[in-house]
Amino acid sequence: MSEFDLIRRYFADLGPARPDVVLGVGDDCALLDVPAGQSLAVSIDTLASGIHFFPDCAPEHIGHKSLAVGLSDLAAMGAEPAWATLALTLPAADEDWVRGFAVGFARLANQHGIRLVGGDTTRGPLSVTVQVQGFVPSGAAVRRDGARPGDAILVSGTLGDAGLALRRMLAGEAVDPESRRRLECPEPRVALGRRLRGIASAMIDLSDGLAGDLGHILAASGVGAELELEQFTLTPWVAEAVAAARDWSLPLSSGDDYELCFCVPQERLVEVGRLAVDPSCALTRIGTIRVGTGLILRLPDGEILTTNGAGYDHFAARP
Ligand code: ADP
Ligand code: MG
Repeated sequence: MSEFDLIRRYFADLGPARPDVVLGVGDDCALLDVPAGQSLAVSIDTLASGIHFFPDCAPEHIGHKSLAVGLSDLAAMGAEPAWATLALTLPAADEDWVRGFAVGFARLANQHGIRLVGGDTTRGPLSVTVQVQGFVPSGAAVRRDGARPGDAILVSGTLGDAGLALRRMLAGEAVDPESRRRLECPEPRVALGRRLRGIASAMIDLSDGLAGDLGHILAASGVGAELELEQFTLTPWVAEAVAAARDWSLPLSSGDDYELCFCVPQERLVEVGRLAVDPSCALTRIGTIRVGTGLILRLPDGEILTTNGAGYDHFAARP
């Protein structure tokens, strides 16, 4: 099957039809209408085989994750997903692989109302680059630079599950399908991100680990923070791994969680409690923004660790 046949069959009609797509896949450019009063939020990510996913990863999971990481960025700005473009580099025109990839990509695209509007297909080592575009009312995006002393720090869901799955897979241990799903098929918190618009003072999605990602909010906002590790919501297996080695690196600095970390002024906290989000997605207060710089970590046993912007290394994930 030729490159053009593959594109026509699997990528020309992917995701829901949208009135703002004047012209989608098939011409030299897509033609897209941004609604009046909205800013276009744009983000791009590459997943390379052997670096961002195992070479034997199911193509459906690669399709899912390559879109999920972009949707997570849109979520972290409070943006509404609209369009995607896809640059696919394939070692061979393997139709079974492309079909599986398109199935995983399309399932998530349909869930979030996002339409594939163009892309590029080339031959080479397996690599997937997805750019997402979404809308956010002008001036309403939740940025990293709005955290203020006294704001509460919250996270969605549980931390460290993807990191634990990765650690076990790298060690050649058996990994149950649910843990593998946390690593390969993250669910971007798009609805939550949108609802936090106008409430959160700052927000980021957790792709590289809480300590480092929260560090970006602290640096951009010119503040410090204090975290109570006892407050973290952990799955039993991550809690067990933490307790076994007295090592908090999984929830603090393993990547790929794709949860949201956000700051909320004290007087708006009650509104967060009222957010009708997915009941399977806990919103947990884990700390407070402080005057100053860097992170103070209070361990459950009372021990206190301090870090500065560059000092997270002793938390570096040890897979
Ligand atoms: P050109 O040579 O003009 O850049 P291409 O042959 O690269 O055109 O692509 C033809 C059409 O197919 C374009 O509309 C392009 O956006 C689309 N396309 C190519 N590859 C993909 C892909 N992987 N996913 C979605 N659309 C694609
Ligand atoms: Mg091209």
